[in-house]
Amino acid sequence: MQSNDTQPGDRRADTRDPGLYWLAAVILLIVACLAALPFVSSRAADATIAALTTVSDKAHAYDHLLDLLKDAETGQRGYVITGDASFLAPYDAATAEIPDALRRLAALADGPDERATQAEIDRYARLKLDELAKSIALRRADGLPAAAAVVANGTGKAYMDRLRALIGERVDTLERDRHTLRDRLATTLRYNTVLGIVASVASALIIGIALYVVRRSLRERAQAADLAQQQARDQAEQARTSQARSQRLAVTAEMLQAMDSLTDADELRDVLPAFLPKLLPGSAGAVYLYRNSRDFLQRVATWGSAGHHPDLVSPAQCWSLRFGRMHVAGPDDGLRCPHCRDGAPGHTDLCVPMISQGEVLGLLVASVPAGPDAASDEGAANAISEQLALGTSNINLREVLRRQSTVDELTGLYNRRYFDEALRRELFRAERRRAALAVVMIDLDHFKRMNDTYGHEAGDIVLRAVGQVLREGVRRSDVACRYGGEELVLVLPECDTTGALRSAEALRTAIAALELHHGDTLLPDVTASFGIAMWPANGDDAATLLQAADRALYAAKHEGRNRVCTA
Ligand code: GH3
Ligand code: MG
Ligand code: MG
Repeated sequence: MQSNDTQPGDRRADTRDPGLYWLAAVILLIVACLAALPFVSSRAADATIAALTTVSDKAHAYDHLLDLLKDAETGQRGYVITGDASFLAPYDAATAEIPDALRRLAALADGPDERATQAEIDRYARLKLDELAKSIALRRADGLPAAAAVVANGTGKAYMDRLRALIGERVDTLERDRHTLRDRLATTLRYNTVLGIVASVASALIIGIALYVVRRSLRERAQAADLAQQQARDQAEQARTSQARSQRLAVTAEMLQAMDSLTDADELRDVLPAFLPKLLPGSAGAVYLYRNSRDFLQRVATWGSAGHHPDLVSPAQCWSLRFGRMHVAGPDDGLRCPHCRDGAPGHTDLCVPMISQGEVLGLLVASVPAGPDAASDEGAANAISEQLALGTSNINLREVLRRQSTVDELTGLYNRRYFDEALRRELFRAERRRAALAVVMIDLDHFKRMNDTYGHEAGDIVLRAVGQVLREGVRRSDVACRYGGEELVLVLPECDTTGALRSAEALRTAIAALELHHGDTLLPDVTASFGIAMWPANGDDAATLLQAADRALYAAKHEGRNRVCTA
Protein backbone atom coordinates (compact mmCIF):
# COMPACT_ATOMS: atom_id res chain seq x y z
CA MET A 1 0.00 0.00 0.00
CA GLN A 2 2.67 2.45 1.06
CA SER A 3 4.81 1.72 -2.02
CA ASN A 4 1.91 2.41 -4.37
CA ASP A 5 0.80 5.74 -2.93
CA THR A 6 2.68 8.83 -4.12
CA GLN A 7 3.02 11.28 -1.27
CA PRO A 8 2.76 15.05 -1.91
CA GLY A 9 6.49 15.34 -1.16
CA ASP A 10 7.28 12.79 -3.84
CA ARG A 11 5.28 14.74 -6.36
CA ARG A 12 7.31 17.85 -5.57
CA ALA A 13 10.43 15.77 -6.17
CA ASP A 14 9.04 14.67 -9.53
CA THR A 15 8.77 18.28 -10.70
CA ARG A 16 12.57 18.73 -10.32
CA ASP A 17 12.97 17.94 -13.99
CA PRO A 18 16.39 18.70 -15.64
CA GLY A 19 14.50 19.30 -18.90
CA LEU A 20 12.63 22.22 -17.32
CA TYR A 21 15.88 23.68 -15.94
CA TRP A 22 17.45 23.57 -19.41
CA LEU A 23 14.37 25.21 -20.89
CA ALA A 24 14.56 27.98 -18.28
CA ALA A 25 18.30 28.54 -19.03
CA VAL A 26 17.74 28.76 -22.80
CA ILE A 27 14.83 31.16 -22.32
CA LEU A 28 16.88 33.38 -20.00
CA LEU A 29 19.67 33.46 -22.61
CA ILE A 30 17.29 34.40 -25.42
CA VAL A 31 15.60 37.10 -23.31
CA ALA A 32 19.01 38.50 -22.31
CA CYS A 33 20.10 38.65 -25.99
CA LEU A 34 16.85 40.39 -26.94
CA ALA A 35 17.36 42.89 -24.12
CA ALA A 36 20.97 43.53 -25.30
CA LEU A 37 19.95 44.27 -28.92
CA PRO A 38 18.61 47.85 -28.29
CA PHE A 39 21.71 48.52 -26.18
CA VAL A 40 24.02 47.52 -29.05
CA SER A 41 21.94 49.58 -31.43
CA SER A 42 22.05 52.62 -29.13
CA ARG A 43 25.87 52.41 -29.13
CA ALA A 44 25.67 53.11 -32.90
CA ALA A 45 23.41 56.11 -32.18
CA ASP A 46 25.94 57.39 -29.62
CA ALA A 47 28.69 57.22 -32.27
CA THR A 48 26.51 59.19 -34.73
CA ILE A 49 25.78 61.82 -32.06
CA ALA A 50 29.51 62.13 -31.33
CA ALA A 51 30.22 62.60 -35.06
CA LEU A 52 27.45 65.22 -35.23
CA THR A 53 29.02 67.09 -32.30
CA THR A 54 32.41 67.09 -34.04
CA VAL A 55 30.87 68.38 -37.28
CA SER A 56 29.06 71.19 -35.47
CA ASP A 57 32.24 72.04 -33.51
CA LYS A 58 34.13 72.34 -36.79
CA ALA A 59 31.45 74.50 -38.43
CA HIS A 60 31.47 76.70 -35.37
CA ALA A 61 35.29 76.98 -35.52
CA TYR A 62 35.21 77.99 -39.24
CA ASP A 63 32.46 80.57 -38.60
CA HIS A 64 34.37 81.93 -35.61
CA LEU A 65 37.57 82.33 -37.69
CA LEU A 66 35.65 84.18 -40.41
CA ASP A 67 34.07 86.44 -37.75
CA LEU A 68 37.51 87.20 -36.27
CA LEU A 69 38.92 88.03 -39.74
CA LYS A 70 35.93 90.32 -40.42
CA ASP A 71 36.47 92.05 -37.03
CA ALA A 72 40.14 92.56 -37.84
CA GLU A 73 39.31 93.97 -41.28
CA THR A 74 36.63 96.32 -39.82
CA GLY A 75 39.08 97.63 -37.20
CA GLN A 76 41.77 98.15 -39.86
CA ARG A 77 39.32 100.03 -42.17
CA GLY A 78 38.14 102.36 -39.37
CA TYR A 79 41.68 103.23 -38.39
CA VAL A 80 42.87 103.76 -42.01
CA ILE A 81 39.96 106.07 -42.74
CA THR A 82 39.90 108.03 -39.44
CA GLY A 83 43.44 107.68 -38.09
CA ASP A 84 41.75 107.25 -34.71
CA ALA A 85 43.59 104.53 -32.72
CA SER A 86 40.46 103.68 -30.83
CA PHE A 87 39.12 101.99 -34.03
CA LEU A 88 41.91 99.41 -33.69
CA ALA A 89 40.30 97.77 -30.61
CA PRO A 90 38.37 95.04 -32.62
CA TYR A 91 41.46 94.55 -34.78
CA ASP A 92 43.64 93.95 -31.73
CA ALA A 93 41.14 91.62 -30.09
CA ALA A 94 40.66 89.58 -33.31
CA THR A 95 44.35 89.31 -34.18
CA ALA A 96 45.06 88.14 -30.60
CA GLU A 97 42.52 85.29 -31.01
CA ILE A 98 43.09 84.29 -34.65
CA PRO A 99 46.27 82.13 -34.00
CA ASP A 100 44.33 80.07 -31.45
CA ALA A 101 41.38 79.75 -33.84
CA LEU A 102 43.75 78.51 -36.57
CA ARG A 103 45.39 76.01 -34.20
CA ARG A 104 41.95 74.73 -33.19
CA LEU A 105 41.01 74.29 -36.87
CA ALA A 106 44.27 72.38 -37.43
CA ALA A 107 43.49 70.15 -34.50
CA LEU A 108 39.94 69.48 -35.75
CA ALA A 109 41.00 68.84 -39.40
CA ASP A 110 40.30 65.26 -40.38
CA GLY A 111 41.18 63.53 -43.64
CA PRO A 112 43.51 64.70 -46.43
CA ASP A 113 40.97 67.01 -48.21
CA GLU A 114 40.07 68.85 -45.06
CA ARG A 115 43.68 69.08 -44.00
CA ALA A 116 44.61 70.58 -47.41
CA THR A 117 41.79 73.15 -47.21
CA GLN A 118 42.76 73.97 -43.63
CA ALA A 119 46.37 74.52 -44.68
CA GLU A 120 45.22 76.88 -47.46
CA ILE A 121 42.95 78.81 -45.06
CA ASP A 122 45.85 79.03 -42.63
CA ARG A 123 48.11 80.42 -45.37
CA TYR A 124 45.55 83.00 -46.63
CA ALA A 125 44.64 84.06 -43.11
CA ARG A 126 48.28 84.81 -42.37
CA LEU A 127 48.64 86.68 -45.70
CA LYS A 128 45.50 88.66 -44.84
CA LEU A 129 46.85 89.48 -41.36
CA ASP A 130 50.18 90.64 -42.87
CA GLU A 131 48.29 92.84 -45.41
CA LEU A 132 46.20 94.39 -42.58
CA ALA A 133 49.27 94.99 -40.41
CA LYS A 134 51.08 96.55 -43.38
CA SER A 135 48.23 99.07 -44.15
CA ILE A 136 47.94 100.04 -40.43
CA ALA A 137 51.69 100.61 -40.24
CA LEU A 138 51.61 102.77 -43.41
CA ARG A 139 48.69 104.88 -42.04
CA ARG A 140 50.53 105.34 -38.79
CA ALA A 141 53.85 106.35 -40.59
CA ASP A 142 52.80 107.95 -43.92
CA GLY A 143 49.19 108.99 -43.46
CA LEU A 144 45.97 108.13 -45.23
CA PRO A 145 47.03 108.25 -48.96
CA ALA A 146 49.76 105.64 -48.64
CA ALA A 147 47.54 103.35 -46.60
CA ALA A 148 44.56 103.90 -48.93
CA ALA A 149 46.74 102.98 -51.90
CA VAL A 150 47.56 99.60 -50.24
CA VAL A 151 43.89 98.98 -49.60
CA ALA A 152 42.96 100.08 -53.07
CA ASN A 153 45.35 97.71 -54.85
CA GLY A 154 42.79 94.92 -54.02
CA THR A 155 45.22 92.33 -52.62
CA GLY A 156 43.55 92.36 -49.18
CA LYS A 157 40.12 91.99 -50.77
CA ALA A 158 41.33 89.09 -52.90
CA TYR A 159 42.71 87.33 -49.74
CA MET A 160 39.46 87.92 -47.96
CA ASP A 161 37.35 86.65 -50.90
CA ARG A 162 39.47 83.51 -51.13
CA LEU A 163 39.11 82.93 -47.37
CA ARG A 164 35.34 83.47 -47.59
CA ALA A 165 35.12 80.99 -50.47
CA LEU A 166 37.28 78.37 -48.72
CA ILE A 167 35.45 78.68 -45.41
CA GLY A 168 32.04 78.83 -47.14
CA GLU A 169 32.84 75.68 -49.13
CA ARG A 170 34.03 73.92 -45.94
CA VAL A 171 30.97 75.02 -43.97
CA ASP A 172 28.71 73.78 -46.82
CA THR A 173 30.43 70.39 -46.76
CA LEU A 174 30.03 70.23 -42.98
CA GLU A 175 26.37 71.19 -43.34
CA ARG A 176 25.89 68.29 -45.78
CA ASP A 177 27.72 65.96 -43.41
CA ARG A 178 25.50 67.16 -40.60
CA HIS A 179 22.36 66.40 -42.64
CA THR A 180 23.64 62.93 -43.49
CA LEU A 181 24.51 62.23 -39.84
CA ARG A 182 21.18 63.60 -38.68
CA ASP A 183 19.34 61.28 -41.13
CA ARG A 184 21.45 58.36 -39.96
CA LEU A 185 20.70 59.22 -36.34
CA ALA A 186 17.00 59.44 -37.05
CA THR A 187 17.12 56.06 -38.83
CA THR A 188 19.13 54.52 -35.99
CA LEU A 189 16.69 55.87 -33.41
CA ARG A 190 13.71 54.61 -35.41
CA TYR A 191 15.41 51.26 -35.80
CA ASN A 192 16.16 51.31 -32.08
CA THR A 193 12.54 51.96 -31.21
CA VAL A 194 11.30 49.18 -33.48
CA LEU A 195 13.99 46.87 -32.12
CA GLY A 196 12.95 47.69 -28.55
CA ILE A 197 9.31 46.99 -29.29
CA VAL A 198 10.15 43.78 -31.17
CA ALA A 199 12.47 42.63 -28.36
CA SER A 200 9.85 43.38 -25.70
CA VAL A 201 7.10 41.63 -27.64
CA ALA A 202 9.38 38.68 -28.39
CA SER A 203 10.45 38.46 -24.74
CA ALA A 204 6.86 38.61 -23.59
CA LEU A 205 5.92 35.98 -26.18
CA ILE A 206 8.79 33.67 -25.20
CA ILE A 207 8.06 34.07 -21.50
CA GLY A 208 4.38 33.41 -22.21
CA ILE A 209 5.21 30.29 -24.24
CA ALA A 210 7.64 29.16 -21.56
CA LEU A 211 5.03 29.66 -18.87
CA TYR A 212 2.50 27.75 -20.99
CA VAL A 213 4.96 24.91 -21.60
CA VAL A 214 5.91 24.74 -17.92
CA ARG A 215 2.28 24.90 -16.85
CA ARG A 216 1.32 22.18 -19.31
CA SER A 217 4.27 20.05 -18.30
CA LEU A 218 3.41 20.45 -14.62
CA ARG A 219 -0.24 19.73 -15.32
CA GLU A 220 0.63 16.61 -17.34
CA ARG A 221 2.96 15.57 -14.55
CA ALA A 222 0.21 16.12 -11.98
CA GLN A 223 -2.25 14.23 -14.19
CA ALA A 224 0.23 11.39 -14.58
CA ALA A 225 0.73 11.34 -10.81
CA ASP A 226 -3.05 11.37 -10.29
CA LEU A 227 -3.43 8.56 -12.83
CA ALA A 228 -0.71 6.55 -11.11
CA GLN A 229 -2.40 7.15 -7.77
CA GLN A 230 -5.75 6.14 -9.23
CA GLN A 231 -4.21 2.99 -10.71
CA ALA A 232 -2.58 2.20 -7.38
CA ARG A 233 -5.93 2.70 -5.65
CA ASP A 234 -7.67 0.49 -8.27
CA GLN A 235 -5.05 -2.20 -7.81
CA ALA A 236 -5.37 -2.03 -4.05
CA GLU A 237 -9.15 -2.22 -4.44
CA GLN A 238 -8.83 -5.21 -6.79
CA ALA A 239 -6.46 -6.88 -4.36
CA ARG A 240 -8.89 -6.17 -1.53
CA THR A 241 -11.82 -7.54 -3.59
CA SER A 242 -9.99 -10.68 -4.65
CA GLN A 243 -8.73 -11.21 -1.10
CA ALA A 244 -12.29 -10.81 0.18
CA ARG A 245 -13.50 -13.21 -2.53
CA SER A 246 -10.94 -15.88 -1.70
CA GLN A 247 -11.66 -15.40 2.00
CA ARG A 248 -15.34 -15.83 1.23
CA LEU A 249 -14.62 -18.97 -0.81
CA ALA A 250 -12.59 -20.39 2.07
CA VAL A 251 -15.37 -19.64 4.58
CA THR A 252 -17.97 -21.06 2.16
CA ALA A 253 -15.94 -24.25 1.77
CA GLU A 254 -15.63 -24.50 5.55
CA MET A 255 -19.40 -23.97 5.92
CA LEU A 256 -20.17 -26.65 3.31
CA GLN A 257 -17.79 -29.03 5.09
CA ALA A 258 -19.56 -28.37 8.38
CA MET A 259 -22.96 -28.85 6.70
CA ASP A 260 -21.74 -32.13 5.20
CA SER A 261 -21.16 -33.49 8.68
CA LEU A 262 -24.75 -32.76 9.80
CA THR A 263 -27.33 -35.52 9.97
CA ASP A 264 -30.30 -33.29 10.64
CA ALA A 265 -31.32 -29.91 9.20
CA ASP A 266 -32.12 -28.73 12.75
CA GLU A 267 -28.39 -28.71 13.44
CA LEU A 268 -28.09 -25.75 11.03
CA ARG A 269 -29.22 -23.64 14.01
CA ASP A 270 -25.76 -23.99 15.53
CA VAL A 271 -23.67 -24.14 12.36
CA LEU A 272 -24.90 -21.27 10.17
CA PRO A 273 -24.47 -18.39 12.70
CA ALA A 274 -20.77 -19.28 12.83
CA PHE A 275 -20.30 -18.64 9.09
CA LEU A 276 -22.94 -16.25 7.72
CA PRO A 277 -21.70 -13.11 9.59
CA LYS A 278 -18.26 -13.72 8.03
CA LEU A 279 -19.76 -14.13 4.56
CA LEU A 280 -21.96 -11.03 4.86
CA PRO A 281 -20.08 -8.67 7.21
CA GLY A 282 -22.25 -6.31 9.23
CA SER A 283 -25.40 -8.21 8.31
CA ALA A 284 -28.17 -9.91 10.23
CA GLY A 285 -30.64 -12.42 8.94
CA ALA A 286 -32.30 -15.80 9.01
CA VAL A 287 -32.44 -19.05 7.08
CA TYR A 288 -35.78 -20.76 6.50
CA LEU A 289 -36.43 -24.31 5.23
CA TYR A 290 -39.52 -26.05 3.96
CA ARG A 291 -40.24 -28.76 6.52
CA ASN A 292 -42.73 -31.62 6.47
CA SER A 293 -45.49 -29.60 4.85
CA ARG A 294 -44.84 -27.31 1.87
CA ASP A 295 -47.29 -24.71 3.24
CA PHE A 296 -44.76 -22.88 5.43
CA LEU A 297 -41.07 -22.27 5.72
CA GLN A 298 -39.68 -22.77 9.21
CA ARG A 299 -36.87 -20.63 10.61
CA VAL A 300 -33.88 -22.90 11.29
CA ALA A 301 -31.13 -20.36 12.00
CA THR A 302 -30.59 -16.65 12.66
CA TRP A 303 -27.51 -14.45 12.99
CA GLY A 304 -26.84 -10.87 14.01
CA SER A 305 -29.62 -8.91 15.65
CA ALA A 306 -32.30 -10.71 13.62
CA GLY A 307 -34.83 -11.22 16.36
CA HIS A 308 -37.62 -9.68 14.27
CA HIS A 309 -37.69 -12.54 11.77
CA PRO A 310 -40.85 -14.62 12.36
CA ASP A 311 -40.66 -18.37 13.08
CA LEU A 312 -42.80 -19.23 10.09
CA VAL A 313 -43.08 -17.60 6.66
CA SER A 314 -45.66 -18.57 4.10
CA PRO A 315 -44.49 -18.55 0.46
CA ALA A 316 -47.10 -15.86 -0.26
CA GLN A 317 -45.39 -13.53 2.25
CA CYS A 318 -42.09 -13.36 0.34
CA TRP A 319 -41.66 -11.66 -3.04
CA SER A 320 -38.53 -13.66 -3.78
CA LEU A 321 -40.46 -16.92 -3.46
CA ARG A 322 -43.23 -15.52 -5.66
CA PHE A 323 -40.79 -14.32 -8.34
CA GLY A 324 -38.44 -17.29 -7.99
CA ARG A 325 -35.34 -15.06 -7.73
CA MET A 326 -33.56 -12.67 -5.38
CA HIS A 327 -35.66 -9.76 -4.13
CA VAL A 328 -34.04 -6.53 -2.89
CA ALA A 329 -35.74 -3.80 -0.86
CA GLY A 330 -33.67 -0.69 -0.05
CA PRO A 331 -33.99 1.25 3.22
CA ASP A 332 -36.41 3.81 1.75
CA ASP A 333 -37.73 2.20 -1.41
CA GLY A 334 -38.78 -1.02 -3.02
CA LEU A 335 -41.40 -3.60 -2.45
CA ARG A 336 -40.87 -4.82 1.09
CA CYS A 337 -41.81 -8.39 1.99
CA PRO A 338 -44.32 -8.58 4.88
CA HIS A 339 -41.95 -10.85 6.83
CA CYS A 340 -39.19 -8.14 6.68
CA ARG A 341 -41.36 -5.23 7.83
CA ASP A 342 -39.66 -4.65 11.15
CA GLY A 343 -36.15 -4.49 9.65
CA ALA A 344 -33.36 -2.25 10.95
CA PRO A 345 -33.34 1.35 9.56
CA GLY A 346 -30.64 2.18 6.97
CA HIS A 347 -30.46 -1.44 5.85
CA THR A 348 -31.23 -3.20 2.60
CA ASP A 349 -33.23 -6.43 2.87
CA LEU A 350 -32.22 -9.27 0.57
CA CYS A 351 -34.45 -12.34 0.16
CA VAL A 352 -32.97 -15.18 -1.86
CA PRO A 353 -34.72 -18.47 -2.55
CA MET A 354 -32.49 -21.51 -1.91
CA ILE A 355 -32.93 -23.55 -5.07
CA SER A 356 -31.32 -26.91 -5.77
CA GLN A 357 -31.98 -28.76 -9.03
CA GLY A 358 -35.02 -26.62 -9.73
CA GLU A 359 -36.60 -27.24 -6.32
CA VAL A 360 -37.00 -24.45 -3.77
CA LEU A 361 -35.66 -25.85 -0.49
CA GLY A 362 -35.72 -22.72 1.60
CA LEU A 363 -35.10 -19.00 1.90
CA LEU A 364 -32.12 -16.84 2.88
CA VAL A 365 -33.11 -13.47 4.39
CA ALA A 366 -30.27 -11.00 4.98
CA SER A 367 -30.36 -7.41 6.14
CA VAL A 368 -27.14 -5.67 4.96
CA PRO A 369 -25.99 -2.06 5.60
CA ALA A 370 -27.12 0.11 2.67
CA GLY A 371 -24.17 1.68 0.88
CA PRO A 372 -21.47 1.06 -1.73
CA ASP A 373 -20.93 -2.57 -0.63
CA ALA A 374 -24.62 -3.46 -1.05
CA ALA A 375 -24.13 -4.60 -4.68
CA SER A 376 -21.30 -6.96 -3.73
CA ASP A 377 -23.42 -8.19 -0.82
CA GLU A 378 -26.21 -9.01 -3.30
CA GLY A 379 -23.77 -11.11 -5.35
CA ALA A 380 -22.49 -12.77 -2.21
CA ALA A 381 -26.03 -13.49 -0.95
CA ASN A 382 -26.86 -15.19 -4.27
CA ALA A 383 -23.74 -17.34 -4.07
CA ILE A 384 -24.39 -18.17 -0.40
CA SER A 385 -27.98 -19.19 -1.09
CA GLU A 386 -26.74 -21.57 -3.82
CA GLN A 387 -24.24 -23.11 -1.40
CA LEU A 388 -26.88 -23.31 1.36
CA ALA A 389 -29.27 -25.02 -1.08
CA LEU A 390 -26.55 -27.49 -2.02
CA GLY A 391 -25.66 -28.19 1.61
CA THR A 392 -29.32 -28.48 2.63
CA SER A 393 -30.11 -30.83 -0.26
CA ASN A 394 -27.17 -33.00 0.87
CA ILE A 395 -28.53 -33.03 4.44
CA ASN A 396 -31.99 -33.99 3.16
CA LEU A 397 -30.49 -36.72 1.02
CA ARG A 398 -28.55 -38.09 3.96
CA GLU A 399 -31.68 -37.94 6.11
CA VAL A 400 -33.59 -39.96 3.49
CA LEU A 401 -30.78 -42.49 3.19
CA ARG A 402 -30.48 -42.79 6.94
CA ARG A 403 -34.22 -43.22 7.24
CA GLN A 404 -34.19 -45.82 4.50
CA SER A 405 -31.43 -47.76 6.21
CA THR A 406 -32.95 -47.62 9.72
CA VAL A 407 -36.71 -47.53 9.25
CA ASP A 408 -38.96 -50.28 8.01
CA GLU A 409 -40.93 -49.07 5.07
CA LEU A 410 -44.20 -50.90 5.72
CA THR A 411 -44.70 -50.10 9.41
CA GLY A 412 -42.64 -46.92 9.82
CA LEU A 413 -40.95 -48.61 12.81
CA TYR A 414 -37.17 -48.93 13.15
CA ASN A 415 -35.75 -52.05 11.51
CA ARG A 416 -33.91 -54.97 13.05
CA ARG A 417 -30.48 -53.47 12.40
CA TYR A 418 -31.42 -50.27 14.19
CA PHE A 419 -32.95 -52.28 17.04
CA ASP A 420 -29.73 -54.22 17.65
CA GLU A 421 -27.76 -50.99 17.87
CA ALA A 422 -30.39 -49.22 19.97
CA LEU A 423 -30.63 -52.08 22.47
CA ARG A 424 -26.84 -52.19 22.87
CA ARG A 425 -26.71 -48.41 23.34
CA GLU A 426 -29.60 -48.36 25.83
CA LEU A 427 -28.13 -51.23 27.84
CA PHE A 428 -24.84 -49.34 28.05
CA ARG A 429 -26.65 -46.20 29.13
CA ALA A 430 -28.82 -48.13 31.70
CA GLU A 431 -25.70 -49.66 33.16
CA ARG A 432 -24.06 -46.26 33.51
CA ARG A 433 -27.15 -44.66 35.08
CA ARG A 434 -28.05 -47.74 37.13
CA ALA A 435 -31.58 -47.38 35.78
CA ALA A 436 -34.07 -50.15 34.89
CA LEU A 437 -34.79 -51.15 31.26
CA ALA A 438 -37.51 -53.30 29.73
CA VAL A 439 -37.61 -55.27 26.48
CA VAL A 440 -41.09 -56.15 25.19
CA MET A 441 -41.54 -58.78 22.44
CA ILE A 442 -44.87 -58.62 20.55
CA ASP A 443 -46.34 -61.18 18.12
CA LEU A 444 -49.66 -60.82 16.31
CA ASP A 445 -52.10 -63.59 17.08
CA HIS A 446 -53.16 -66.00 14.33
CA PHE A 447 -51.72 -63.74 11.70
CA LYS A 448 -51.22 -66.56 9.29
CA ARG A 449 -54.98 -67.07 9.37
CA MET A 450 -55.52 -63.37 8.53
CA ASN A 451 -53.26 -63.66 5.52
CA ASP A 452 -54.82 -66.88 4.41
CA THR A 453 -58.40 -65.63 4.72
CA TYR A 454 -58.16 -61.98 3.57
CA GLY A 455 -55.00 -62.03 1.55
CA HIS A 456 -51.46 -60.75 2.04
CA GLU A 457 -52.51 -57.20 1.28
CA ALA A 458 -54.97 -57.22 4.18
CA GLY A 459 -52.16 -58.55 6.39
CA ASP A 460 -50.03 -55.57 5.34
CA ILE A 461 -52.87 -53.19 6.26
CA VAL A 462 -52.96 -54.74 9.73
CA LEU A 463 -49.17 -54.53 10.11
CA ARG A 464 -49.13 -50.85 9.05
CA ALA A 465 -51.92 -49.99 11.55
CA VAL A 466 -50.21 -51.83 14.40
CA GLY A 467 -46.95 -50.01 13.50
CA GLN A 468 -48.74 -46.67 13.83
CA VAL A 469 -50.24 -47.69 17.22
CA LEU A 470 -46.76 -48.48 18.50
CA ARG A 471 -45.12 -45.33 17.09
CA GLU A 472 -47.76 -43.12 18.63
CA GLY A 473 -48.16 -45.07 21.84
CA VAL A 474 -44.58 -45.08 23.14
CA ARG A 475 -42.55 -42.29 24.78
CA ARG A 476 -40.06 -40.28 22.69
CA SER A 477 -37.22 -42.03 24.44
CA ASP A 478 -38.64 -45.51 23.72
CA VAL A 479 -37.62 -47.46 20.63
CA ALA A 480 -40.27 -49.38 18.68
CA CYS A 481 -39.00 -51.82 16.01
CA ARG A 482 -40.16 -54.46 13.59
CA TYR A 483 -38.13 -57.48 14.68
CA GLY A 484 -39.12 -59.51 11.60
CA GLY A 485 -42.37 -60.68 9.93
CA GLU A 486 -45.23 -59.88 12.31
CA GLU A 487 -42.94 -59.87 15.35
CA LEU A 488 -42.33 -56.47 16.94
CA VAL A 489 -40.13 -55.42 19.81
CA LEU A 490 -39.91 -52.43 22.19
CA VAL A 491 -36.97 -51.10 24.19
CA LEU A 492 -38.21 -49.01 27.11
CA PRO A 493 -35.30 -47.22 28.87
CA GLU A 494 -35.65 -46.08 32.50
CA CYS A 495 -38.78 -48.19 32.87
CA ASP A 496 -39.51 -50.65 35.70
CA THR A 497 -41.75 -53.75 35.54
CA THR A 498 -44.86 -51.81 36.51
CA GLY A 499 -44.25 -49.16 33.86
CA ALA A 500 -43.52 -51.80 31.24
CA LEU A 501 -46.69 -53.68 32.12
CA ARG A 502 -48.71 -50.49 31.94
CA SER A 503 -47.28 -49.55 28.53
CA ALA A 504 -47.72 -53.06 27.11
CA GLU A 505 -51.29 -53.26 28.41
CA ALA A 506 -52.13 -49.88 26.84
CA LEU A 507 -50.72 -50.94 23.50
CA ARG A 508 -52.48 -54.31 23.64
CA THR A 509 -55.80 -52.55 24.27
CA ALA A 510 -55.16 -50.03 21.47
CA ILE A 511 -54.36 -52.85 19.00
CA ALA A 512 -57.44 -54.80 20.01
CA ALA A 513 -59.55 -51.68 19.49
CA LEU A 514 -58.41 -51.21 15.86
CA GLU A 515 -61.15 -51.27 13.26
CA LEU A 516 -59.58 -52.03 9.91
CA HIS A 517 -60.95 -52.33 6.42
CA HIS A 518 -59.56 -53.91 3.30
CA GLY A 519 -61.56 -52.27 0.55
CA ASP A 520 -65.15 -52.67 1.62
CA THR A 521 -64.40 -55.62 3.84
CA LEU A 522 -64.26 -55.07 7.58
CA LEU A 523 -61.34 -57.08 8.87
CA PRO A 524 -61.71 -59.12 12.07
CA ASP A 525 -60.30 -57.78 15.34
CA VAL A 526 -56.53 -57.91 15.61
CA THR A 527 -54.88 -59.01 18.83
CA ALA A 528 -51.30 -59.41 19.89
CA SER A 529 -49.41 -61.19 22.67
CA PHE A 530 -46.69 -59.42 24.72
CA GLY A 531 -43.68 -60.82 26.57
CA ILE A 532 -41.71 -58.54 28.93
CA ALA A 533 -38.12 -59.04 30.14
CA MET A 534 -36.44 -56.69 32.65
CA TRP A 535 -32.80 -55.67 32.84
CA PRO A 536 -30.91 -56.73 34.81
CA ALA A 537 -33.33 -59.11 36.55
CA ASN A 538 -34.01 -61.34 33.50
CA GLY A 539 -30.63 -61.04 31.80
CA ASP A 540 -27.71 -58.63 31.67
CA ASP A 541 -26.97 -58.76 27.93
CA ALA A 542 -29.01 -58.33 24.80
CA ALA A 543 -29.18 -62.01 23.83
CA THR A 544 -30.34 -63.29 27.24
CA LEU A 545 -32.80 -60.44 27.59
CA LEU A 546 -34.33 -61.21 24.18
CA GLN A 547 -34.51 -64.90 24.99
CA ALA A 548 -36.26 -64.05 28.28
CA ALA A 549 -38.75 -61.77 26.47
CA ASP A 550 -39.33 -64.45 23.84
CA ARG A 551 -40.05 -66.97 26.60
CA ALA A 552 -42.54 -64.58 28.20
CA LEU A 553 -44.22 -64.12 24.82
CA TYR A 554 -44.42 -67.85 24.36
CA ALA A 555 -46.08 -68.02 27.76
CA ALA A 556 -48.62 -65.39 26.69
CA LYS A 557 -49.43 -67.40 23.55
CA HIS A 558 -49.69 -70.51 25.60
CA GLU A 559 -52.02 -68.91 28.12
CA GLY A 560 -54.50 -67.99 25.37
CA ARG A 561 -52.98 -65.00 23.45
CA ASN A 562 -54.08 -61.30 23.57
CA ARG A 563 -52.28 -60.81 26.86
CA VAL A 564 -49.12 -59.54 28.50
CA CYS A 565 -46.71 -61.84 30.36
CA THR A 566 -43.47 -60.99 32.19
CA ALA A 567 -40.40 -63.17 32.16
P1 GH3 B 1 -49.56 -67.30 16.41
O1 GH3 B 1 -50.73 -66.75 17.06
O2 GH3 B 1 -49.12 -68.58 17.08
O3 GH3 B 1 -48.44 -66.38 16.33
O4 GH3 B 1 -50.02 -67.70 15.02
P2 GH3 B 1 -49.53 -67.11 13.69
O5 GH3 B 1 -50.45 -67.45 12.64
O6 GH3 B 1 -49.36 -65.63 13.86
O7 GH3 B 1 -48.22 -67.82 13.50
P3 GH3 B 1 -46.82 -67.17 13.09
O8 GH3 B 1 -46.50 -66.12 14.04
O9 GH3 B 1 -45.84 -68.32 12.97
O10 GH3 B 1 -47.18 -66.63 11.69
C1 GH3 B 1 -46.40 -65.70 10.97
C2 GH3 B 1 -47.09 -65.34 9.75
O11 GH3 B 1 -46.97 -63.94 9.48
C3 GH3 B 1 -46.46 -65.98 8.54
C4 GH3 B 1 -46.52 -64.98 7.44
O12 GH3 B 1 -47.42 -65.34 6.46
C5 GH3 B 1 -47.01 -63.73 8.11
N1 GH3 B 1 -46.19 -62.62 7.73
C6 GH3 B 1 -44.91 -62.41 8.08
N2 GH3 B 1 -44.49 -61.23 7.52
C7 GH3 B 1 -45.55 -60.70 6.84
C8 GH3 B 1 -45.72 -59.51 6.09
O13 GH3 B 1 -44.85 -58.68 5.90
N3 GH3 B 1 -46.96 -59.31 5.53
C9 GH3 B 1 -47.95 -60.19 5.68
N4 GH3 B 1 -49.12 -59.94 5.13
N5 GH3 B 1 -47.81 -61.30 6.38
C10 GH3 B 1 -46.62 -61.58 6.97
MG1 MG C 1 -44.74 -64.95 14.60
MG1 MG D 1 -48.06 -64.72 15.20
